[in-house]
Amino acid sequence: AAKGGGKDRIVRFEAGLRTAADRQRELATGLRRALHEGELDVHYQPVVRLADGRITAVEALLRWFPPGADAIAPGVFIPVAEATGFIVPLGWWVLERACAQARPWYERDGISLTVNVAAHQLREADFVERVRAALAAAGLPATALVLEVTESTLVADAESTARLDTLRADGVRVAIDDFGTGYSSLAYLVHLPVDVLKIDRTFLATAVDTTLMRAILQLAGGLSLQTVAEGVETEEQATTLRALGCEHAQGFLFSRPVPPADLDALLRSGRLELGAARIH
Ligand code: C2E
Ligand code: MG
Ligand code: MG
Ligand code: MG
Repeated sequence: AAKGGGKDRIVRFEAGLRTAADRQRELATGLRRALHEGELDVHYQPVVRLADGRITAVEALLRWFPPGADAIAPGVFIPVAEATGFIVPLGWWVLERACAQARPWYERDGISLTVNVAAHQLREADFVERVRAALAAAGLPATALVLEVTESTLVADAESTARLDTLRADGVRVAIDDFGTGYSSLAYLVHLPVDVLKIDRTFLATAVDTTLMRAILQLAGGLSLQTVAEGVETEEQATTLRALGCEHAQGFLFSRPVPPADLDALLRSGRLELGAARIH
């Protein structure tokens, strides 16, 4: 009986594995279809200046709305796109679309656009040319664009780093996304082509970890890097961050990521200060 039970467990375990692999394949196929059938959209989340709550930038975030089903989270489909390499065409689609949509926001209100770039995309030989082409097609100056990359993406590959440096000479800025979750050594930061640190929200998970936050902000100040705290959800967090000298913040306290039409309506209404009453 014991042996039979073991076998049964193994069968169920294998069925579970097959299901997970099938699910990945379904997602990969579905994502290709989604791109061609128009199921994807780009939403935008404001980044605000903590001094006055003014929107200074928006982050482009990919969204997938399969017809007749619930939205699929980027945390689910982005890893699949990265594993299959489909993140490359997907990334270009986001960048080109976001540059076009962000142009009036930049022209009217001086709002920058920040776009996530995956390691795969950065390894493309024509990366620099395609970013320049996306900017030119949208009529957006290089100074309006911030490219977000993770620590591991930068540390891993010297050619990618050189590509980013070329774009920085044009005026494009580079942000390290989810800072503090990757490499634990801070020393390498000095050598990387970086303009902005986006401090991961794990530092805010409970209360703002003031000791760590202070150290990161001090380091950023010493290197003349701009700082953005990610995932700010409470007034208390915003107030503490401001007191510690963090310049910018992004999070549900100010706004969730919203469809382009909603952001456009917000900006047209002139309500550029999202958190003035919330930060002390
Ligand atoms: P990320 O680049 O770090 O983006 C910030 C994520 O934090 C977004 O999740 C955003 O909705 C979420 N967020 C913002 N404020 C708060 C808050 O106050 N509380 C909490 N709990 N979460 C907050 P989202 O949109 O689900 O995206 C997840 C990740 O997927 C992104 O993390 C990014 O790594 C990736 N991603 C999204 N769009 C793209 C894209 O176009 N290209 C690439 N390569 N990656 C993307
Ligand atoms: Mg990001
Ligand atoms: Mg982030
Ligand atoms: Mg993050």
